[in-house]
Amino acid sequence: EKRHGLLHIFFFPFMAEGHSIPLIDTAKLFASRGLKVSIITTPVNAPLLSKSIERNRLLGHKIDVLVIQFPCVEAGLPEGCERLDLTTSPEMGLNFFMATTLLAHPLEDLLKEYRPNCLIADSFFPWSSQVASKFGIPRIVFAATCFFSLCAAQCLRLYQPYKRVSSDSDPFIIPNFPGEIKLTRNQLPDFVKEEIVFSNFYREVKEAELKSFGVLVNSFYELEPTYADYYRNVLGAKTWHIGPISLWNTNIEDKAKRGKESSMDKNKCLQWLDSKEPNSVVYICFGSLANFPASQLLEIAMALEDSGQQFIWAVRENKNNEVWLPEGFEERMKGKGLIIRGWAPQVLILEHEAVGGFVTHCGWNSTLEAISAGVPMVTWPLYAEQFYNEKLVTQVLRIGVAVGVQQWARIVGDSVKKEAIKKAMTHLMASEETKEMRCRAKSLAEMASKATEEGGSSLSDFNSLIEQLRCKGM
Ligand code: UDP
Repeated sequence: EKRHGLLHIFFFPFMAEGHSIPLIDTAKLFASRGLKVSIITTPVNAPLLSKSIERNRLLGHKIDVLVIQFPCVEAGLPEGCERLDLTTSPEMGLNFFMATTLLAHPLEDLLKEYRPNCLIADSFFPWSSQVASKFGIPRIVFAATCFFSLCAAQCLRLYQPYKRVSSDSDPFIIPNFPGEIKLTRNQLPDFVKEEIVFSNFYREVKEAELKSFGVLVNSFYELEPTYADYYRNVLGAKTWHIGPISLWNTNIEDKAKRGKESSMDKNKCLQWLDSKEPNSVVYICFGSLANFPASQLLEIAMALEDSGQQFIWAVRENKNNEVWLPEGFEERMKGKGLIIRGWAPQVLILEHEAVGGFVTHCGWNSTLEAISAGVPMVTWPLYAEQFYNEKLVTQVLRIGVAVGVQQWARIVGDSVKKEAIKKAMTHLMASEETKEMRCRAKSLAEMASKATEEGGSSLSDFNSLIEQLRCKGM
């Protein structure tokens, strides 16, 4: 194992689990190889972060947390609303993004004081490139998605094919993009196809990506070689892939509490899985942000019951007193299904041999965690770039069954009926294709773990990034 001393790297994660989990894990990876690491965060997020690096500090890694104030009040947000999942409406979400742009000043102060060798900041902080350049500090973009979606987004931005279709449901092919990938205008984010407040910000994000010192991607070359090459050679981005980031840290306690503390004791969860046959359980979870209405949860529950499928289902907790389960559901499902209210130890669940399928919203972390564990998926994209990720899973990698969502939505609704859920789940878990999909998924999982081992593509990109920073730093 190579050790890299001396360099001081700043990490600046965007305050949403899907962005902060992988970047904090990346920071820990850098620290474990001897680099000095500082992670920038805000008061509400600091305690959890400090706790999550405790073990690394005990191991003697040089890693610390720098806290800057988050301008809630200035941005019209309630006090303490310092994470995207704490916003409760699209308007608040927008205010949240605007609030983060006000972090340029405190960031500048920190850079002036510490003069790190590099700033690795989330793609949602496009302005951080300029701040860093004032001090001659290279800024690397942390892209919280795959090459496929990075390329798709750039091609859509450059060629705007959605302007040339006659209806929202008319499929078009992403131009100049390998693989003849079809989308509809319905499946595109509103800020891509319309000119709204967020569009300008998004444009800055996409431009900064290609203009920065480089882009750090949580993926591995063998998963999507065509798109990694396309991003580098055609779109001209300088990039390093260092994923799957979830595979670097094999400590079981760390895995159990990536992001938040798990709401169910990990041992209870794992013992339950231990009592099941291999590949006999489906895991259902829609990431850290999605908040389905009770009516949609009811459809999921009915599909689970009707299909007779064994399951672990993670449901976000804030359902108040709404009825979201059919009467007597949990009683009837005893032994058959487990509901986790709140935060699930996702990586541990996916890695358990009893889990044979994953119903996912195609958030990139969830998708890659499933791939790393060799688990095929039912794809149920909701928003962000998830409709692109779905295409990668179902059409390019062919390890997923689409539940059939057609509409990108800022607020998730209840459009997917129990029949569609049941059908996709049965296709995934018990059809002629099940074996093939599992086989492909397992072989990708093997490639994933090789990528992070000695001689692997991700480890070698990681080492080459540090060499480049060292040369720059001398
Ligand atoms: N996650 C988890 N437990 C949960 C929900 C989510 O550990 O109950 C983790 C999941 O493993 C992943 C991240 O949170 O690392 C979610 O990121 P993703 O990109 O999949 O979706 P997002 O939350 O950004 O929509």
